[in-house]
Amino acid sequence: MNEFAARMERARASLGAQGVDALCLSVGSDLPYLTGYRAMTLERLTMLVLPADGEAILVVPELEARRVDMSDGTFTVRPWSETEDPVAIVADLLGRVSRVAIGDETWSRFVLALQSADQDRSWFPAGDLMRTLRIVKSGAEIAALREAARTVDGVADQMSTVQFSGRSELDVSREFAERTLADGHDEILFAIVASGPNGASPHHEPTDRVIQHGDAVVVDFGGLQAGYSSDTTRMFVVGDAPYGFTDAYEVLQAAQAAATAHVRPGVTASSVDAAARDIITDGGYGDLFIHRVGHGIGMDTHEHPYLVEGNDELLETGMAFSVEPGIYVPGEWGMRLEDIVTVTDMGVESLNRSHRSIRVVP
Ligand code: ZN
Ligand code: ZN
Ligand code: ZN
Repeated sequence: MNEFAARMERARASLGAQGVDALCLSVGSDLPYLTGYRAMTLERLTMLVLPADGEAILVVPELEARRVDMSDGTFTVRPWSETEDPVAIVADLLGRVSRVAIGDETWSRFVLALQSADQDRSWFPAGDLMRTLRIVKSGAEIAALREAARTVDGVADQMSTVQFSGRSELDVSREFAERTLADGHDEILFAIVASGPNGASPHHEPTDRVIQHGDAVVVDFGGLQAGYSSDTTRMFVVGDAPYGFTDAYEVLQAAQAAATAHVRPGVTASSVDAAARDIITDGGYGDLFIHRVGHGIGMDTHEHPYLVEGNDELLETGMAFSVEPGIYVPGEWGMRLEDIVTVTDMGVESLNRSHRSIRVVP
């Protein structure tokens, strides 16, 4: 059985187990996870109708139907023409089905129309069901994440000999993006370059601020390669590190290493956060670590599991997520160190492997 057929089988089994009769998926990553086809996020409805027992049918705008690859034979296509009503088509395919799970990211316009098309049907969010399927990655998915990580590692290393001072954050950000695309990514989703005091804002958008001697620069970048995400953060310093930076960085690096080493099957997601946070707190920077230690990653850059206090979900072999503690001093500087890791039977594999020391650039 191929990968997509296996996923669809698992989806059908979960539907049955949860007492739901059918699954409807539209835009977002759930649909390509099951079918390999990503709906265009335009105004025309694309929707997979997957009954617990019965044939899977993809309702798709006629003019987009030729983009669909059906060669796996796991579903068929029902193209709809410009004068047809796609909501009526989906309602018709659902027939007498009474309990339907619908993808979390489906536009409310279509959800509401489907609800009013048949008042007797009940609708449930498909989020929990899809999360259970997607949270544990297959070997092929881990391999794709590993390749994406390898590309950004290479770019981080290339950029360690490049001039930063005298250039704007935007200019340096563009160079990260261009090199990442040239080295194998299909898309860049973000290339945060946060210099000097801007580094204290974890999700800073690059600006025209000119990078200066003595700045610490947070670089957090990633995108998509063969459908899977990369996401890594490395620290650059222009010439000399600012006051207090080097001491704090030693604590950060120890925290990141301890959290990574803590990862293994059976520990809670929250304990990975705690492993980093305890070291940062002991170092005296606890109040300056203002976000969770990590997020799951796969087809989406942020997905389950979330490594955050209070999440007692147990880690399993095949889960993939970031380990990215940070320390942020408002008005002065910020620092973060981020790797994507995967849980293995033996413990953990770090997919990002480029060196984690401060990169001193001209
Ligand atoms: Zn982030
Ligand atoms: Zn990141
Ligand atoms: Zn991240």
